[in-house]
Amino acid sequence: MRVPLAVPNLSGREGEYLQECVTSTFVSTAGAFVTRFENEIAAISGTETAVATCSGTVALQMALEGLGIGAGDLVMVPSLTFIASTNAITHSGATPWLVDVSADTWTIDLDLARHLIETETEACDQGRRHRSSGQVLRAIMPVMTMGASLDFDAAVSLAGDYGLKVVVDAAAAIGAFGSGNRPIGATGVDAVCYSFNGNKTVTTGGGGALAADDADLVERIRHLITTGRPGPDYDHDVVAYNFRITNLEAAVGVAQLERLGSFLERKSQVYERYREFVSSRTLLDDFPTPQMGRSVHWFSGIYYRGDDPQVVSDFRAFMQDKGIDVRPFWKPVHLQVPYRDTPASLMKVSEEIWWRIVPLPASTGITDAELDYVIDCATEFWDRDGLT
Ligand SMILES: *Cc1c(COP(=O)(O)O)cnc(C)c1O
Repeated sequence: MRVPLAVPNLSGREGEYLQECVTSTFVSTAGAFVTRFENEIAAISGTETAVATCSGTVALQMALEGLGIGAGDLVMVPSLTFIASTNAITHSGATPWLVDVSADTWTIDLDLARHLIETETEACDQGRRHRSSGQVLRAIMPVMTMGASLDFDAAVSLAGDYGLKVVVDAAAAIGAFGSGNRPIGATGVDAVCYSFNGNKTVTTGGGGALAADDADLVERIRHLITTGRPGPDYDHDVVAYNFRITNLEAAVGVAQLERLGSFLERKSQVYERYREFVSSRTLLDDFPTPQMGRSVHWFSGIYYRGDDPQVVSDFRAFMQDKGIDVRPFWKPVHLQVPYRDTPASLMKVSEEIWWRIVPLPASTGITDAELDYVIDCATEFWDRDGLT
């Protein structure tokens, strides 16, 4: 049996809607599916509006640029993230300030962030000047690691205390809620950014979106991603981008969103199966799920509590050998060549946990037989040599 890590689930009306695009010739960036997709993203996010983009990376970049963040500015972001988060900051002209994560959330440690702001910055006209780099801290970018919810109230209150914006990297967290059953866009944050890459819960092949309550912000971004062209003539008022989604991609997205509820339900079931598997094993843990809000379990799997990295590589190799796709997870950004010199906190937790995280297959289309097989193989490995 071969079990992939995360593959698209395209058994709904994707083909039908794609055929509609072809029949109507609306295959490019204009078309009814784009508008429909954007409206549905706004509704799911609990925001006034949304705009779709050609990737999640550019959704993040446009959020920052739309908020007026760029050269000379700093954006706090957890080091344990996909490198796209920091690339988006860099593309906007700003500089990432890498912050360690907390052990129980796997995302930005907001207490540490506050401590860094207090001890390493001082108030200035535009925000908080970082003493050692001279740059101005303007925003924080919490990442919803594995689709886990986070303490939006704490992020918004930290931002409020220092005049910062909050841009949420919700790349794989569509459908999540904050505390009080609020959709993530209704938690007081400035913008929520999604990715619809092929390995995400909802995919458009490639694509992204930004949801926000501030309609002016969203319109500014729509302008920026549409070559800065206010009307049908070839008059442009800003050096802009071609970052739009196509009707073809949005058609797939609309079909995917029709099944969002069942996708999220399956992700939860997969999470529960793996949680059950680790519950009796002292060397293993599940992925953190905060008490508040609703997490959407983009990935679930096992967290190794032991100290021997070789055991983790052996486990991956064992599973690969059985036809089960198990790979390393995000290596923190401060360990990546392009970000060696960017401002960073101490990284005690990120360095301790990143290599211990082992996502297991979690496609929304995974069958019960496949899940049983994954768990049987994992059991065989962890029962060997008295590993538990
Ligand atoms: C997937 C992902 C992105 C990037 O999205 P793309 O659509 O691939 O550009 C950004 N941040 C996180 C946390 C992601 O998982």
